[in-house]
Amino acid sequence: MAIDLVTRREWGARQPRGAYGRLSSTRGVKVHYTGGQVSPDIVGDHARCVALVRSIQNHHMDGNGWIDVGYSLLVCPHRKVFEGRGPNHLPAANGSGLNSGHYAVLGLVGSTGFTQPTDDVLHGILDAVEYLRDKGGAGDEIKGHRDGYSTDCPGGPLYAWVRRGAPRPGGGPTDPPDPHPSFPGRVLKYPPVMVGEDVRTWQRQMRRRGWDIDVDGLYGEASRDACRAFQREKGLSATGAVNRATWQATWEEPVT
Ligand SMILES: [Zn+2]
Ligand SMILES: [Zn+2]
Repeated sequence: MAIDLVTRREWGARQPRGAYGRLSSTRGVKVHYTGGQVSPDIVGDHARCVALVRSIQNHHMDGNGWIDVGYSLLVCPHRKVFEGRGPNHLPAANGSGLNSGHYAVLGLVGSTGFTQPTDDVLHGILDAVEYLRDKGGAGDEIKGHRDGYSTDCPGGPLYAWVRRGAPRPGGGPTDPPDPHPSFPGRVLKYPPVMVGEDVRTWQRQMRRRGWDIDVDGLYGEASRDACRAFQREKGLSATGAVNRATWQATWEEPVT
């Protein structure tokens, strides 16, 4: 099912007060909840979702003094995804210093009242995550706000789901795993600097795995050093050169 986006115009968003910071990619997404009281009546009344999203934006702009709502996307119990700052824009909700690493996706779930994320909330969050991967270069990570920041967010039930690997609920069709690109047929190594799409493909996958590496298509010193560290981690011969075995490990080895 395609994402069911609610545009900013549709939910009556205020204009941002300034320009967003730009993001070309992130390591992934952090999941949030609203916390506080969310009336269980929200499940039967989408108008309440719209009102809640607007009140969150007001709180972020007028209370926190932010230029806009702090989330990238906001998900309601009707599997609708409200546009926040959107892909390629720096969010604000993850906490200082933690916004360039992950987009921020909110589920409209409280700490009292409506506290259990329904299947449609979980599907909606995953629709949002896929959209951010597709449009905003989000990597594979799905984490909770509390990972690396002192907060209860995203609450017990949502965090437990994140820790289980954020599966699609209900045994519905699962998404095929990322296609594993075949070895390009040349060993990526340095020096001299090697240039190419194969370099970029490998760097993108390393970045998805959490390595701090530029996805620039240039295999230089930084790529070599990351490669060598990865090879050591996986018990491969630490040559700093991406041969067939290292290429395959980059897709097949579990992320630790
Ligand atoms: Zn949060
Ligand atoms: Zn709704």
